[in-house]
Amino acid sequence: MEKLKIAIQKSGRLSEKSMEIISEAGISMNNGSRKLISASTNFPVEILFLRDDDIPQYIADDVADAGIVGENILAESGAGLEIHEKLGFAKCRLSLAVQKSVDYSGSSFFSGKRIATSYPNILKCWLEKNKIDAEIHVITGSVEIATGIGLADGIFDIVSSGSTLLSNGLKEVEKIMDSEAVLLGSPGIGGRKAEIMEEFLFRLRTVMASRNNKYILLNAPNDKLDKIIDAIPGMKSPTVLPLAIEGWSSVHSVVNENDFWQVIGKLRAHGAQGILVIPIEKMIV
Ligand code: ATP
Ligand code: MG
Repeated sequence: MEKLKIAIQKSGRLSEKSMEIISEAGISMNNGSRKLISASTNFPVEILFLRDDDIPQYIADDVADAGIVGENILAESGAGLEIHEKLGFAKCRLSLAVQKSVDYSGSSFFSGKRIATSYPNILKCWLEKNKIDAEIHVITGSVEIATGIGLADGIFDIVSSGSTLLSNGLKEVEKIMDSEAVLLGSPGIGGRKAEIMEEFLFRLRTVMASRNNKYILLNAPNDKLDKIIDAIPGMKSPTVLPLAIEGWSSVHSVVNENDFWQVIGKLRAHGAQGILVIPIEKMIV
């Protein structure tokens, strides 16, 4: 039987979260021990465990049909693949950084300078776009020490909290791209594989939606009900049920993680009481 081949990182920052999302999509894997390839016991997919850098090329070569990598890896590979879904983890940015002591006045600083990076293609593109003539030094791993040892005048690397830069005496001066884990797909799949891909994507979106939304229940005085309902940008409209106590109602709805605290603030201000927030196991979108 035909199976969809999905490539994920063998070991690293993406591995655990990639397996987690696959498992939440109801796809069970045989065992925890990671061979190169492992078939699901209850869904027509095979998981390939690879180095993340290799994944776009494997998809482009049709060895895998889909894969999970950071957008940084996709951009660096230059492979013309489709991003099916952003997955909300491994969020970071790719930035240029220089030594703290540098009096940085703009991107022209980099003209004639040496920049160390593991992402030469993304950097080259940005330098060309900004008409900066700089020398790129490709190094893999520990890019952040390059200026300290006199190898380069600046670095171009992944930044998340910025603490690695800080502890190496560097400061971030230009953000070139944002990145997060994405599900990539080969644009060329068809037939049975395309059907499996559709089902897999549907499940992933369900998982993403449930992660990004909360079920909310609260008690509202009836004279404030309109305002309280207005404050909830819910699914369609909230469910409103009378409470046993005269003059009060129970309101149920779904709130997106992004609006969450703002909504809670408004609800409290309008006199909502007994607010309960419950994680959603699955949300069909
Ligand atoms: P591999 O051995 O598979 O090549 P790697 O060492 O290249 O692994 P990791 O360090 O595991 O890669 O990072 C994988 C991806 O996670 C990166 O390409 C990036 O998208 C993301 N990432 C890296 N560092 C961070 C960070 N500090 N915060 C958030 N996401 C990050
Ligand atoms: Mg890698």
